[in-house]
Amino acid sequence: MAIALFFLLHWWGSVFFQTLFHHRYASHRMFTMGPRTERVIHLLAYMFQGSSYLDVRAYALLHREHHAFSDTPRDPHSPTNHGNVFTMMWATNERYQAYAKRKREPEARFLGGIPEWPWLDRLGRSWTARIGWMGFYTAFYLVFATAWWQFLLLPVHFAMGPVHGAIVNWWGHRLGYRNFESRDQSRNTLVFDVLTMGELFQNNHHHSSRNANFAHRWFEIDPAFQLMRLMAKVGIIRFVVPPKGMVDGSDVEDATARTELQQAS
Ligand SMILES: [Zn+2]
Ligand SMILES: [Zn+2]
Repeated sequence: MAIALFFLLHWWGSVFFQTLFHHRYASHRMFTMGPRTERVIHLLAYMFQGSSYLDVRAYALLHREHHAFSDTPRDPHSPTNHGNVFTMMWATNERYQAYAKRKREPEARFLGGIPEWPWLDRLGRSWTARIGWMGFYTAFYLVFATAWWQFLLLPVHFAMGPVHGAIVNWWGHRLGYRNFESRDQSRNTLVFDVLTMGELFQNNHHHSSRNANFAHRWFEIDPAFQLMRLMAKVGIIRFVVPPKGMVDGSDVEDATARTELQQAS
């Protein structure tokens, strides 16, 4: 029981902060928050991602390239360019490392608006810290595991961020249905995305990449967006563009967008 709870907490915590902070905030700027709140969320992202913490700048640059070149030969991670998920992730990692270590410069249009905390990003990349986190996961299993096979879950804890990336980038562009015709191969893989907190609505998201709500049809549920609505209600974040499904616009940052929304309702 303790192992199941620990696994689910790590799984959902890690992917929630990835979709909230790295994806919807750092890459797309779908909402704003105060500088102190930004630091708290950044720190929480680090705590939950632990040994597989994703460098925010490298993630955002790769992701902006992914939208610009989706499923073309220049896409940093498209299943159309690779025979299997492992070669795709290998190539993704090479470019990610080059950006994280500043050995490669992106096109200027992909830069800007990415939150930076050099100290934390350095800590996240350090192998001492990574091994420390792996030691912590292992110690938890040594104390609470009730069967040997549970230890087989440990590698998933070690590489949680890339595991989520592989699921979203491979199956999100291969498996599922489409609501919108687009030049890329994006798909909506699940209607209630319990697996990756909304990230598997790739087709919806590529269609309107500024909409914080990745669910577009009545039967689709984006769990991260539902949590974000709550965060907006209590004033932790403010949406820049009113997401579909929000009616009064009181927690929308952009004044023009808010006026348009009020006029429409
Ligand atoms: Zn995509
Ligand atoms: Zn995106």
